[in-house]
Amino acid sequence: MSVIPERVFIREVGPRDGLQNESKILSTDDKVVWIDQLSETGLDYIEVSSFVSSKWIPPLADALQVFRKIRRVKGVTYAALVPNVKGLEQAFKADVDEVVIFLSASESHNHKNLNRSIKDSLNNCRDVCQRALSEGLSVRAYISTVFGCPYEGHIPFDKTMGIAQILLEGGVHEIAFADTIGVSTPRQVSKFLDLALKLVNSDRVSLHFHDTRGTGLANVLTGLEYGVFKFDSAIGGLGGCPYAPGAAGNITTEDLIYMLKGMDIRTDIDYEPLMESAMFIRDRFAERQLPSHALQSTCSTLS
Ligand code: MG
Repeated sequence: MSVIPERVFIREVGPRDGLQNESKILSTDDKVVWIDQLSETGLDYIEVSSFVSSKWIPPLADALQVFRKIRRVKGVTYAALVPNVKGLEQAFKADVDEVVIFLSASESHNHKNLNRSIKDSLNNCRDVCQRALSEGLSVRAYISTVFGCPYEGHIPFDKTMGIAQILLEGGVHEIAFADTIGVSTPRQVSKFLDLALKLVNSDRVSLHFHDTRGTGLANVLTGLEYGVFKFDSAIGGLGGCPYAPGAAGNITTEDLIYMLKGMDIRTDIDYEPLMESAMFIRDRFAERQLPSHALQSTCSTLS
């Protein structure tokens, strides 16, 4: 019996995850125009920016200005990454709808990325989460390197699920299980979901795939077959892989929407305005061809 969901929700991560991993820095005004466009496509979730120190992530140094300038559309959740309680104060100033915390399933990756152990990260996440919840905000968490780590290789899935359960018990509403380096395949996703969905209800699960090796949408299809109905993606396929220069990054929102529409799965996202927002960002990154297949196909039809 098929459990493929009738309705899928997209977490658009282009403005944060996408831009964070691009070497070119987009102007604040361009970000605002682009996010305002995205707000009109029917997307109901946009990861706008990050309150990680601008020293570490210069492309997102204008997070507060962007939040203050965007035109908010009712029904759209505007989220931001928050590394610690200090970042949370900024997020409050920006009036974010959802706080996104993050850590890694791999001890080595966590140390390289966050300069602390997983245990210390979990303590930090708990503090941020409690404070955000007390202010009435929802909280989402990324667990990165779930399907493979650039330093340790395979990370046992029960390790990831141990972290996930601590986060969920701490009040996190949703967890994005991320294939940070884009190594997963449908069989691996299937094995992961066999375990994960025994422990966590699918309404608290989002899958975050990268298309580094071309398996992104195949992995989404596997997720759909397990009844998963939340996926992260980025317009244009923005955001490369820090461990593989030049490689594709996040799966592409417009490619994903094209596939879902063809499968009669509802998203309430309008394809044409979505493509317009993809063209807008393509023009801003004209020095390189973005990985989006839908974009390449549309542009070849136009020329
Ligand atoms: Mg990503």
